[in-house]
Amino acid sequence: MLPPELLHILACPSCKGKLVQNSDGHSLLCSTCDDSYPVVEGIPVLLPVRTGTASCDTTTYSSSNKHKATTTNARI
Ligand SMILES: [Zn+2]
Repeated sequence: MLPPELLHILACPSCKGKLVQNSDGHSLLCSTCDDSYPVVEGIPVLLPVRTGTASCDTTTYSSSNKHKATTTNARI
């Protein structure tokens, strides 16, 4: 389960809509556009699902994390 405060700051990368946790706890659903995003080992993978490759590229994933950290720091 993801902490509610984490869900509160997350947004759908496609439409910036509010994300809700699926009942199985392994995915997040956008309440606006109905896109779903996997939660891998407790970490939500908010990559647009329409980009083609189904496998999660580690390089893309880590750079995405770095970007999120930068954004958080800038906000503080
Ligand atoms: Zn959305």
